[in-house]
Amino acid sequence: MNKNDITTITITDMGIDGEGIGKVDGYTLFVKDTVVGDVASVKVIKAKKNYGYARLMQIVTPSPYRVNPVCELASRCGGCQLQAVNYDKQLEFKAKKVRNNIVRLGGFEETYIDSLMEPIVGMEHPYEYRNKAQFPFGVDKEGKFIYGFYAGRTHSIIPCNDCSIGVKENKKVLDTILEWMNEYNIAPYDEVSHKGIVRHALIRKSFADNRLMVCLIVNVEKYKNTEGIVPHQTELINRIKSISEVASLSINLNSENTNVIMGDEIINIWGSDHISDVIHLRDVQSGFSYIDEDGNILKGKELVNNAVGIRYNISPLSFYQVNPIQTEKLYSIALDYADLSGNESVWDLYCGIGTISLFLAKKAGKVIGVEIVPQAIDDAKKNAENNGIGNAEFYVGRAEEVLPEYYEKQSEDAMLHPDVIVVDPPRKGCDGACLDTMIKMAPARIVYVSCDSATLSRDLRVLCDGGYEIQKIRPVDMFPHTVHVETVCLLSKIVNI
Ligand code: SAH
Repeated sequence: MNKNDITTITITDMGIDGEGIGKVDGYTLFVKDTVVGDVASVKVIKAKKNYGYARLMQIVTPSPYRVNPVCELASRCGGCQLQAVNYDKQLEFKAKKVRNNIVRLGGFEETYIDSLMEPIVGMEHPYEYRNKAQFPFGVDKEGKFIYGFYAGRTHSIIPCNDCSIGVKENKKVLDTILEWMNEYNIAPYDEVSHKGIVRHALIRKSFADNRLMVCLIVNVEKYKNTEGIVPHQTELINRIKSISEVASLSINLNSENTNVIMGDEIINIWGSDHISDVIHLRDVQSGFSYIDEDGNILKGKELVNNAVGIRYNISPLSFYQVNPIQTEKLYSIALDYADLSGNESVWDLYCGIGTISLFLAKKAGKVIGVEIVPQAIDDAKKNAENNGIGNAEFYVGRAEEVLPEYYEKQSEDAMLHPDVIVVDPPRKGCDGACLDTMIKMAPARIVYVSCDSATLSRDLRVLCDGGYEIQKIRPVDMFPHTVHVETVCLLSKIVNI
């Protein structure tokens, strides 16, 4: 195959980024915007020795798995890579991605991993699930102020106010901010000149309370008092206040020349300085129905309020899972895998605001949570107190430092050799020093919650070489229509007889 060749190809597989893969006379081509099952006419844009990349020219026969994307902008916006694939096929793709990564990158036997995989957990209604979104503001070619999304892998803004995976209320808030900017001529931030004020708006929704937290990220260096961080602040407050769902308005200062969205400083200018949300555990065995206070198994959304839940305060800089509906299923699986009976000592590493820790604490003797973001640990401590949970402690720091330091203390302590360690690291996975200490602490069970199956696979290899055995693997679709997938994995210590 050479560059500019035009050929017809049948797409037989999907790559890790959702791109179609097919073969022409044994030569592999990767084709963006195609779906497994498509027959397509494509043009080669890059030809390497053993494989190449091609651009879709025309679909000759559409795949039976192809659907019309709900969003008009689906192929331009970088957010959802799989909107043109039907949901069942998306789930199949994700389960296979996890399985293949563990086999190939972890170096495990195929049939062995297949025997440990539990069915992927999908959503009943895979839309409007994101409780958090960050929208950049900018200027279009005509000089009009706009907000929207960055086009895939770029920093050019596509105006968009109708994202199908976001919540409906976002539009109201963003339009209000835009009106305020237009009326008082408050310019959006410009990345090139480093001028202008409004960089992003962060909106978070509490699904439990139907309340919103709005945070405006601005290019302002210092603030004198809460009355005047941005020009015409009172007018901004008055407008935002009139949206009945908004409970909190704050400003985040970010005057750095960076593509990191949030700065470190947050000033609450109206309403509460946080929002809160409630998570209920669900019954894993009965297919994720709810269990109410009397132990009855209930099904259906309208019965949520009868289920036993934990209420969490979330401040703007803290991590909180973006899909609250699937989070309940994810945590339920993690808790089920932890298999606690009342007296266990448990570490929850990368604990955020203590979400998993507090559920663990309800069923364990003692839990220690470790997290790098101080604001998240403040939230975690308050959350324990607010929910009357007295057996959870929280430490600020890197898991790979806090855990070895604790272990090296060598004092007599149940936490030195805990029963269970739960980890939920960011995409880069666990640090080697963290894994080594986990192996030394020798818990009977490790529950690994992962948002990147490639780093999960690498870490599973380390843990298995260190005396652990994988028991169960369950993918959870936290991010429908994107290529991302969450995985919960249970490992147990091999007992030498
Ligand atoms: N278990 C929590 C948070 C998971 S996200 C939940 O489900 O809500 C991963 C968390 O790890 C984030 O809160 C992030 O701030 C934190 N983190 C990142 N690197 C870390 C490190 N080296 N040590 C400890 N925590 C870290």
